[in-house]
Formats: sequence, C-alpha cells, structure tokens
Amino acid sequence: MNYGHITVPQAEVPVSREVDVLVIGGGAAGIAAAISAAEGGASTMIVEQRGYLGGMGTVALVPAFCPYTDKVKPIIRGLGLKLMERMKQACDPGYQEEYREQLDWVPIDPEVLKRVYDNAVLESGVTPLFHTFVYDVVRSPDGQTIEGVMIVNKSGRSFIRCRYIIDCTGDGDIAALSGVPFQKGGGDGELQPGSMCYLLANVDRPRFSRFLAETGDTGQLHRTVEQAILEGALPEGRKSISGLAWVSDQLVGVNFGHVFGVDGTKAEDLTRGAIEGRRTVLRQLEFFRKYVPGFEQAHLVASGEQLGIRETRRIQGDYTLTVDDFVAARSFPDDIARNAYYIDIHLATSKSDMTFNHLPPGVSHGVPYRVMLPVGIRNLWVAGRSVSSDRAVQGSLRVMPNCFSMGQACGTAATLALRDGTDSRSISIPELQQRLLEQDVWLGENFVPGAAEQDAGQAQ
Ligand SMILES: Cc1cc2nc3c(=O)[nH]c(=O)nc-3n(C[C@H](O)[C@H](O)[C@H](O)COP(=O)(O)OP(=O)(O)OC[C@H]3O[C@@H](n4cnc5c(N)ncnc54)[C@H](O)[C@@H]3O)c2cc1C
Repeated sequence: MNYGHITVPQAEVPVSREVDVLVIGGGAAGIAAAISAAEGGASTMIVEQRGYLGGMGTVALVPAFCPYTDKVKPIIRGLGLKLMERMKQACDPGYQEEYREQLDWVPIDPEVLKRVYDNAVLESGVTPLFHTFVYDVVRSPDGQTIEGVMIVNKSGRSFIRCRYIIDCTGDGDIAALSGVPFQKGGGDGELQPGSMCYLLANVDRPRFSRFLAETGDTGQLHRTVEQAILEGALPEGRKSISGLAWVSDQLVGVNFGHVFGVDGTKAEDLTRGAIEGRRTVLRQLEFFRKYVPGFEQAHLVASGEQLGIRETRRIQGDYTLTVDDFVAARSFPDDIARNAYYIDIHLATSKSDMTFNHLPPGVSHGVPYRVMLPVGIRNLWVAGRSVSSDRAVQGSLRVMPNCFSMGQACGTAATLALRDGTDSRSISIPELQQRLLEQDVWLGENFVPGAAEQDAGQAQ
C-alpha cells in the first residue's frame, strides 16, 4: 500500500553536542571504537538506541563469545580480550573457576556484561548517550564529509556535530544514509535467518551431562531434535542445538532455530521477527521440557529484546575482502587484525543448507584497514559486521571478537587523523599498526609495521 508523501516543515534543530569522534552503535565494534578513541585523547561520544551497551551480545542474548584463538593460540587480543576477561572476573566464583582459562565459546552473563561495558566506557572518558536513535546525517556541500548526525530521543530532535564518525550500527546505517553503495545478502536478496536467543533457568546441568555421557553418543542431542521434528514438536530447519552456553549449572543461554525472511533494516520485518521468534522460543521450551533430560523444570527467564540479526548491509569500501583472501589466508600491507573464525553462513530457508569453511588450526588471514573505509566519504569508518567483504567472508568476520578488533582499529585511526588534522585515508598505516601492537593487538608472528608483504599465506 502506498499512502503517498507529506512535506515536513523546515525546523530549527538545536545542536546538542560537539565532539571529536562520534561512534554510532554500542555493540562490540562500537564499544571498542569508542574506548580506543577516548584513550587516544579524542573527546568521544557513543550513541546507542537501547538503554545499555553490548549489541547482539546483550540486546539479542547471543549466548557466547566466538573463539578468540585460531585453535593454537589467541589471535584476538587487545581490547576485545580485555573486555571478555573483565566479564569473567565480574562473574560468580563458580563461573570464574570453570572458564578462567577458556578463550573459545566463553558463555555470556548478559547482566554482568552490561555493567562491565558501562564501566569500561566511563573509565575511558567516553560520553555515552543511550535511548537515542540516529536517523539522518548532514554532509558538507561537496558530500564528502559528514558534519554530524540527526538524533531523536525523549528530549526531542537534535544535531550532534563531529569531526570524525565511526559507524558501528551493524547495519551500516550511517554509511547508507551518506549515500555509500552497499550490498545486502545474496544474489537473490536472500539473507541469513535471525534467531531469537534466550536464557533458561532451573535447568539441571549434571543430569543433562549424564544423559549425553550415558549414551556415549555425541550425536544424541542432534538425534533428539530430529525425532522432535519428525513428531511435529519442532518446526523443520536446523537440526542441531549448537549454542548451549552454561552460565551456571542452573542457567543456560540458548541459540537454537531460525526465523526466516527477516530484513533487519526494516521495522516491519523486525516486528514480525520478534513475535515469530518468541513463538519459536515457547515451542522450543516445550520441546526441551519433554525431550531433554535435565530440562524438565526449565523456566524461561528472558528472550532477546530483538531477534538476533546475522546479516544486513555490506558497505562498499576501498577494498572488498573475498573468500579467496580467506582461503589463501592472505595478509595485506594495511592489516589491522587477523581472523580465523570459519565461514558460517546459516541457511536462508528451512529447506536449504548451512555453509561452513574452516581454516586449518594455526592459520588466519589479515583484515586490511581499507575494508573499513566507505567509498566517497573522508571522515567515516565502518566497523563490525557490515564492513566491505563478500557474502562468504561476512559469514566469518561478523562475530564479536572480530568486531572488537575492527572497532579498536577505527577508534585508534580516528585519533591519528584528529592529531594530524587529516582524513581517514591519509593517516600513516605503519603508525596505526604500531599503536595497535602497543595496545596488545596481534597482527601475526614477527609482524613489522609497514612491511609491504607480511608472510602472506603462512600459518599465522
Ligand atoms: C543469533 C546469533 C548468534 C550469534 N552467535 C554468535 C556467537 O556465538 N558468538 C559471537 O561472537 N558472535 C555471534 N553472533 C554474531 C555477533 O553477535 C554479531 O555479528 C556482532 O554482535 C556484531 O557486532 P556489531 O558491533 O557490528 O553490531 P551489533 O552487535 O549489532 O551492535 C550494533 C548496535 O548499534 C545499535 N544501533 C543500530 N542502529 C542504530 C541507530 N541508527 N542509532 C543508534 N543505535 C543504533 C544497536 O542497537 C546495537 O546495539 C551471532 C549473531 C546472531 C544474530
């Protein structure tokens, strides 16, 4: 239905703030970008539409951090690792004991994580502004510089002026509003499905572990799901429960099942996804209670505030990271991070297949600075799951540890641009890399900032 258009009267809008670096979106990428910018001396604000930080890890209750290692050594270090370790230290003693040494698939205690993020951004000097949505950008007359953004919140509409801006919305909202070209999903517009994640209390982990151990069959849970699908207790679709993240012996985070056909850049789709997601969760709760030992008394404590969204826009950057780069474990002269997470593309419909592609243990590829530089804009970086890559690589780069790394690099780059009074493309890459190394970021064995070729294709 087309209801036509109206012309909105011109209005004077107050300037509510002026900052050096403005970060939009408070997920993993945004948190790291803002902290790095502030620690580098920039006056920094982070704007987030929810009442807390964490993005998908708290908003959507994604239950665990993906691996920080390449199965041999930690490759995601720097701020991302510090923040995860800080969450561990703030958790209950039992949690600490169990996960102290673990770096891969560390369960998220969302309430602890929210507070850890609050404290980390405040300590670094970042000014947070929650409950605030960015709905437009204002660009310079030549269109190449963003002068600031239009926000709306309970206080009304206003303008935030900034010198540099980092788009960490996960959806590339700021880049898209600035006219940066982007792609969304596959050739036919298909998108990875969303999932409504949730927390179950009153579960009995020892009993569940005995159930798995007694059968001595690692596929037992998979078979239980298959049986439930056959009996109509669960809908068709993904047959494994990949994401059970035990926060304690009584509390588990669940990432299971899919909601299809949701475009996370459309409010109508998100609305349908939320409702359908909650219905899915109820059906799964009934399945767990009936089919899975240890879950008989499970109680649903919370589901995500929104459906978890895996994929929306991929912006066009100065370089597009491809599956060839991934498979060849390529390195680049402007690497700002490394990635070893497998290509993990979830089925777009209940009848299609998942796509997986793993690098061998100990091998990673480089993430070049240029994937975060949206074409045509001089003072904008994009970090997080919408950076410039093909669809396959997005299926790998999108996970939280990588988003921290990319955010940290953008925030640090912004402080160099600020110091030199220059744009995002004119900073010294060797200096950026050197700064990142000083911040404990890992860029490869024997990495030398500025070296043209860095052991391309070698196990890193
Ligand atoms: C179901 C599911 C399971 C997953 N499993 C894992 C897993 O096990 N481990 C893992 O590490 N990763 C996992 N991921 C991937 C990971 O959670 C996300 O890709 C990652 O959080 C992306 O980080 P980000 O910072 O780019 O964006 P997000 O986490 O999406 O954060 C973006 C933030 O920006 C805010 N925002 C957006 N637009 C605006 C706007 N216009 N104005 C103001 N604020 C705005 C949002 O509210 C949000 O807080 C999963 C994802 C999903 C959906």
